[in-house]
Amino acid sequence: MKIVHAASELYPYMKTGGLADAVGALVTTFAGNGHQVSAFLPGYRDALSHPAAAGAERKFKLKIEMGDQFVSGDVVAFSPQKNLTIYLICRDEYFDRKRPYGNGERDYEDNAERFIFFCKAVVETMRLADLGADIVHGHDWQAALLPLLLREAERRFGVTLAMKTVFTIHNIAYQGLFPAGSFAKTNLPDEMFTMDGLEYYGQVNFLKGGILFADRLTTVSPRYAKEIQSPEFGCGLEGVVQTRVDDLSGILNGIDTAVWNPATDPLIPSRYSAADLSGKLGCRRELLRQSGLDPAYTGPVFGMICRLTEQKGIDLLLANADFFKTRDCRLIVLGAGDKRMEQQLQKLAADAPAKVFVCSKLDEPMSHLIEAGGDFFVMPSLFEPCGLNQMYSQAYGTVPIVSRVGGLVDTVRDADEDREGGTGLMCEPNAASLRDALERALILYADKPRLAAVQRRGMARDFSWAASAAAYEALYQEAL
Ligand code: ADP
Repeated sequence: MKIVHAASELYPYMKTGGLADAVGALVTTFAGNGHQVSAFLPGYRDALSHPAAAGAERKFKLKIEMGDQFVSGDVVAFSPQKNLTIYLICRDEYFDRKRPYGNGERDYEDNAERFIFFCKAVVETMRLADLGADIVHGHDWQAALLPLLLREAERRFGVTLAMKTVFTIHNIAYQGLFPAGSFAKTNLPDEMFTMDGLEYYGQVNFLKGGILFADRLTTVSPRYAKEIQSPEFGCGLEGVVQTRVDDLSGILNGIDTAVWNPATDPLIPSRYSAADLSGKLGCRRELLRQSGLDPAYTGPVFGMICRLTEQKGIDLLLANADFFKTRDCRLIVLGAGDKRMEQQLQKLAADAPAKVFVCSKLDEPMSHLIEAGGDFFVMPSLFEPCGLNQMYSQAYGTVPIVSRVGGLVDTVRDADEDREGGTGLMCEPNAASLRDALERALILYADKPRLAAVQRRGMARDFSWAASAAAYEALYQEAL
């Protein structure tokens, strides 16, 4: 098949979260399976300076209609592997910035314009490059206008650019909600700015466009596909999602086992496998050392890695600060984002400097070390479309402690409830239930044979992309 993907993040060219990993793995897997794959990403500063993009040719010049004016841009194209072409949509005014969505404090003011331009440029490049796509697959609000803009361009130019469109919701909490005035820049017909279109309580909602107009709709776990039909998790779009249930499916993300495998990981000091876990000890020592904690400590080490945002349940962790201060354990948190959460975590570390370490930055090597060197991984998300770290944790023999939401339900089984098959510990997304799970972790840690059995069962699970990619392929075929 000829498959086009478009997203605002794509590993290894731009990543702020799981979206980049998912799209990166999908495009490389499809290309490896022999499909002709084109992947579109904004030409951010970091993406353009990636070694693979350096020296790549500027292949197309663009003139994109944005409201009542035309805006220029160009397209850098390169092929990092057979069957895969990466297209970077460039316009320095929009994308030559340090970060993709905001300055760290606030979202950029011109995000509507930036991503309308991106979607339009994808459509225009598909036309110029004559890609003749079977499937155009967009991800999240930044690419959500694609199905609409594509059909509009086809109508205008009298051509077929894509047979079918697929849209994936990686997180329904991010919708691309903008003032009504932004709609003019789409140049879509006025009847698209109604309740049955992009209008959402007087504003423009990009995500709604993807949900309503893609031929097939997916989200990143079966559980989340159900959850987003409810007011509790639908973030106001549950009614819109309900209109598409017949075309909606949940396909679990996989993990990139070339990057996340303790037997081959170059970012950890000693490698190990389920057959011989001894290398994990060296990782623990190095993790404790790098965290400024006593490397000889032998009690339970809890790790956590996440964007600091309400979703990730940082407040539930903070509500259990006394657990980490008073119980015999260590806590190592890697996370950047919300300043208030950062400060409160740093305060916890300052209150218990021999027990708690908080690292407030993006640090890929450190994230591998935490997965490898920890005993438990804490992930008490309030909602979690899929989640990756609970899968990494199981692959690294680090027992995940997760809340019963979204993809966490689809990927972890509680070891106290399922004595034969459990791979983690589960709680409800509240502080008291998390406390109970943390206490159960101490009990599990004290029972070494049982702990080892839980670890090995987690390590035996197959979270590779093969299954997920096969499910998407089947979906594409069925749509076509
Ligand atoms: P989300 O996409 O909501 O952020 P996921 O669990 O799907 O959550 O993916 C998060 C990804 O980002 C994981 O690969 C995780 O290891 C990584 N990550 C998050 N915060 C950091 C950080 N501070 N340093 C390094 N990696 C991080």
